[in-house]
Amino acid sequence: MAIKIYNTMTRRKEDFKPYVEGRVGMYCCGPTVYDYFHIGNARAFVVPDMVRKYLKFRGYDVTYVQNVTDIEDKIINRAKERGVTTDDIVRQYTKAFFEDRAALGVGAPDYQPRATEHVKDIVGMVEGIIKKGHAYVSGGDVYFDVSSFSGYGKLSGQNPDDLKAGARVDISEHKDDPLDFVLWKGAKPGEPSWDSPWGPGRPGWHIECSVMSAGYLGGHVDIHLGGSDLVFPHHENEIAQSESFGGEEFVKYWMHNAMVNVDGERMGKSMGNFFTVRDILKKYPGKIVRYYLVASHYRQPISFGLDELDMCARALARLEDSIINAMKAMGLGPDDVTRSLEAGAPGIGDAQAKGLVKAADSAVSSFVEFMDDDFNTSGAMSALHELARAINAFVALGSREEEASLAAAYAMGKLWKMGNVLGFMDDVTLRADAAAGLGDGEGLTGPLMELVLRIRAEARAKKDWALSDFIRDGLKDLGVTVEDTKDGARWKLERK
Ligand SMILES: [Zn+2]
Repeated sequence: MAIKIYNTMTRRKEDFKPYVEGRVGMYCCGPTVYDYFHIGNARAFVVPDMVRKYLKFRGYDVTYVQNVTDIEDKIINRAKERGVTTDDIVRQYTKAFFEDRAALGVGAPDYQPRATEHVKDIVGMVEGIIKKGHAYVSGGDVYFDVSSFSGYGKLSGQNPDDLKAGARVDISEHKDDPLDFVLWKGAKPGEPSWDSPWGPGRPGWHIECSVMSAGYLGGHVDIHLGGSDLVFPHHENEIAQSESFGGEEFVKYWMHNAMVNVDGERMGKSMGNFFTVRDILKKYPGKIVRYYLVASHYRQPISFGLDELDMCARALARLEDSIINAMKAMGLGPDDVTRSLEAGAPGIGDAQAKGLVKAADSAVSSFVEFMDDDFNTSGAMSALHELARAINAFVALGSREEEASLAAAYAMGKLWKMGNVLGFMDDVTLRADAAAGLGDGEGLTGPLMELVLRIRAEARAKKDWALSDFIRDGLKDLGVTVEDTKDGARWKLERK
């Protein structure tokens, strides 16, 4: 069965057939690095990571490219506000982007080009577009002539006349038509600039993606992702630039994730109702935020609130507990679980152990069926929870025979693998859970942690917040996070 992807361009689910069989080139618009990113932005980084991990799981050779916009009005303005250079702003927020992304389990792309490293290529493409009669020079700027590209509006499904009615024109722009957009911006005094045939200036935002996506992916993009807020004008403009320059289809599948809402309103910097991931990570481990972001189908708008995160924390704990408890009860270690992933289904005679192996296999088929259907993570999640329940029930039966432990390791391996593809379980999950459940090699970590947490609980009971925070922060420095739940404090080793 083929994977199906909902293509924004055709407005229907299509069988996924990449340009080259077995290989996938993915591109997603990256951040403009002038601030911390918020949970709405985070969804547009997590969805491509989920797609990438799943396609790899399904055996594709995936190349993933994401740009970093490191020159833009917002960066220039932020630098002015703070009296620092644009380089200072870019350095600070690129680093923060990498850190926060990693905390959400988002892997680094295969290529992460920055706009300022590609100014020459951008100038070359703009020259080519002018030569082909699709752009014009006006007052030191270069604009794309939208009326010259007949396909304009095909992605957003609107005709240019309707789009024109809603277009805003900045008086500083010297363009012939409100829909025309800037490819190259002439520099104002004091702004960072690069030489070009049209005088000193810098690239427009839209052209960056046209240059950096196909440039790294052999001319075509199999899957181009981004938030639905980018369909118009950004992605419409990318298509106009790339297809009028190259004369061929630019992207095969357009995937757009829906927005994150707060109290029914779209979360946005301009709305002032945003929560930065950085702030959220102070209270919640990244894996919970990751769980929250993949628990719903990517085309469904989701609402954000601490209640939602708490719910996800409980749901994720149920999955993890099923693994921790089973490891503990069966006397298994992380290596038994990971080894079972390579070994394949164990041959088993015992009916109940056989039943668990079967439950694990059917959970994986159901997971694949949901994920193949336009990455239905919400359905896929039900397969994980069902398997967790089957593991719990099996452990409760009490058999500790060798066949039982083989079957349990197999089922845990499958559960862990699915959680790993969705991005909220990694090696650390297993190691940390092993430490929590079994103690480390010396068997000391678990009991010591119990002791430390008991001291902290005493401090809290006496309202000695300074001591209790001291303990929590000290543990955090050691890579141990403490979560206060109604059943007392839980601790986990986090990725450092
Ligand atoms: Zn883009």
